[in-house]
Amino acid sequence: MADDYGILRRTAELATEYLRSLPERPVKSGMAAAELRRELITALPAAGEEPQAVIEHLAEVGGRAAVAMAGPRYFGFVIGGALPPALAADWLTSSWDQNAGLYAGGPAASVVEEAVGAWLLELFGLPPASGFGLVTGCQMAHFTCLAAARTAVLERAGWDVTGRGLFGAPEVEVVVGDEAHSTVLSALQYLGLGRDRVHTVATDSQGRIRLRELEKVLARIPHRDPLIVNLQAGNVNTGSFDPICAAIDLVRRREGAWVHVDGAFGLWAAVSPQLRPLLDGVELADSWATDAHKWLNVPYDSGLAFVADADAHVKAMAPPHASYLEYGQERDEVSWVPEFSRRARGFPIYAALRTLGRDGVREMVEHCCALARHMAAQLGQVDGVEILNDVVLNQVLVRFIPRGDGNISGARGDDFTHDVVRRVQEDGTLWLSGTTWHAMAAMRISVSNWSTTLEDADRSVEAILRCAGR
Ligand SMILES: *Cc1c(COP(=O)(O)O)cnc(C)c1O
Repeated sequence: MADDYGILRRTAELATEYLRSLPERPVKSGMAAAELRRELITALPAAGEEPQAVIEHLAEVGGRAAVAMAGPRYFGFVIGGALPPALAADWLTSSWDQNAGLYAGGPAASVVEEAVGAWLLELFGLPPASGFGLVTGCQMAHFTCLAAARTAVLERAGWDVTGRGLFGAPEVEVVVGDEAHSTVLSALQYLGLGRDRVHTVATDSQGRIRLRELEKVLARIPHRDPLIVNLQAGNVNTGSFDPICAAIDLVRRREGAWVHVDGAFGLWAAVSPQLRPLLDGVELADSWATDAHKWLNVPYDSGLAFVADADAHVKAMAPPHASYLEYGQERDEVSWVPEFSRRARGFPIYAALRTLGRDGVREMVEHCCALARHMAAQLGQVDGVEILNDVVLNQVLVRFIPRGDGNISGARGDDFTHDVVRRVQEDGTLWLSGTTWHAMAAMRISVSNWSTTLEDADRSVEAILRCAGR
């Protein structure tokens, strides 16, 4: 009898080969879209093909086209790699193939979620009785948390949004900083709260909300209106934090208001005594959204939603009971997330947290921040290279000024900065992207990978300066 599973050993070899090549492979795709289409888009085969051949082809083409996002010199967006034990647990997760919606569909998946939920609440210093849900990313974490917010603030106004929806409901007022991440706005869009009717609060040079502006915005909102306020811990460009404690103080003067915190990567600052002050007062919020696939370095996709009021969380998420489902005393995950059938997302997080321990998580976060400061210092001492942000976390914003141009914010600086970003992307030593910061083109550097070394940082600085002709 043929061994149907024989293919897995070979696949593990191919995957390991790819992973071992990460530190030295060019950090850009080796294939253009047209070439990929030629390789991958064929007529649907009438007869099935040989599994080994299909997987070898996929490994070859997929691997060649892959951007070394999991590697040590990928500084684009905010992207983690995959810690080997977390990846190993992810392989097991696929092999067990549990439907982790109900305890009955995967008892270990449910209990492991209990374990990681408690560990993470402890690690972040959040109220231990909070509800938590393991979702696909921070986008769905916002959705989950803001759904709980919507439920709670409307319930306080005597309205049952779960049963009746928003038709005829009191208006919910939503306040966000003008630097709020787009996923907060899309969560509002999905929830019927509207992404354009928000009240926006002006921010400062680092992207932090201004307290005086928050005060003014709050003063304009009728006192009895249900109110949700979004704060940010970790601006996607600068890494800056809203003044959380003082902002919560202001919001708490209004009874029944809900404070949500977008801490996609910034919430991880809580694990470091050195960085923790940036989050002062964060535990006083009502809900928190973050990612495990960014700074915890587990494979995609993995986001985390925490809600202090566990009842509101369940009310917002639990589906209506159907007669064929086996709900029980144990944790049925569907009660905490917007999904029904779902992946057992707890295992890779469990493996990451157990193998790192509290100290390991702290070291990983602090190491990334130290490398970000190092890169900013190396780049910033060069003539015509400006660091635009205070490097308080793992994010660096860089601007390049052409020789002989004294105008830091001028159009020539924009063109030159765009050019340097493009050249770096073509060079392939590292990958990063551009952004616009306060009407200026800038290069973004985000250090979020467990395997990035000081040597990677130096090699990257050298390549950036070479591409800038310095
Ligand atoms: C990445 C990010 C998000 C979105 O997270 P996903 O995991 O991509 O859904 C939200 N907010 C901030 C600040 C982010 O950096």
